[in-house]
Amino acid sequence: MALINMTEIIARQKLTELLQESDCCKCEQCYLDMLAFALNNLKPMYVNSKQGQLISRINSTIRQRNVDMDIAIVKAISIVSSSPHRASDEDDAEVEEEDIAKAE
Ligand SMILES: [Zn+2]
Repeated sequence: MALINMTEIIARQKLTELLQESDCCKCEQCYLDMLAFALNNLKPMYVNSKQGQLISRINSTIRQRNVDMDIAIVKAISIVSSSPHRASDEDDAEVEEEDIAKAE
């Protein structure tokens, strides 16, 4: 048995969707930076992973609050993509597509 954060699951789906329409860096590091930023601005919603029916009900509840979710994720993408890989490798933009392929 485990607790899962429904907000995180839906934020991951949303972030992946929105990144497909964006031309910013999509490597694992940027993806996780964006996800962390978005989740820090959203309320977590923990559920017991065994409660499948509850999960799907909560899933639709969260999806109705998509506006908050969209705003947090769009903001996360814009902030992280304005300074990707804050510390190290700025010179390998070509490699990014491969990075996400490997991560999945
Ligand atoms: Zn990146």
